[in-house]
Amino acid sequence: MTARFCLACGGRLAPVRETGRVRGRCRRCGWTFYGNPVPAAVAVVERGGRVLLVRRARPPYAGTWDLPGGFLEAGELPAACLARELREEVGLRVRRARLLGFATDRYGPKGFPVLAAVYRVGAAVGRLSAADDVSEARWFPRRAVPFGAIAFPSMRRLLRRYLSGR
Ligand SMILES: [Zn+2]
Repeated sequence: MTARFCLACGGRLAPVRETGRVRGRCRRCGWTFYGNPVPAAVAVVERGGRVLLVRRARPPYAGTWDLPGGFLEAGELPAACLARELREEVGLRVRRARLLGFATDRYGPKGFPVLAAVYRVGAAVGRLSAADDVSEARWFPRRAVPFGAIAFPSMRRLLRRYLSGR
């Protein structure tokens, strides 16, 4: 996805080449669309040998399974975003989280770029509920994770690698 109009003045953007990349620059005021990734935080939550997945209620990929998480708000750090998203989406309170690493993806096949901080949540308390932008939350035994129904390629890869212990 690339923007077609200037966020500052509404003028039309024209492609310009800059340090080997093509950016959109406003013909009228010079504002540049960089298309930087949007930061997100996602969680691999485990309880009793099972992994928590949520079913997406909205596009992109509505109806598919995903790791719980979401986008950072302005001024929010990834760990705080993680705690907020788990509370809002599935009603769990994070007690212990460890950063596993980062994943890049697009928000949908032609969506904007995303950079996700991925956490392993070893302890989350509360009764599981689905709210906000998920239609269902379910614990899957490690061997029964429905990889084929996880739409984001980065999340599928990450979970495969994580569950195989690599
Ligand atoms: Zn402009």
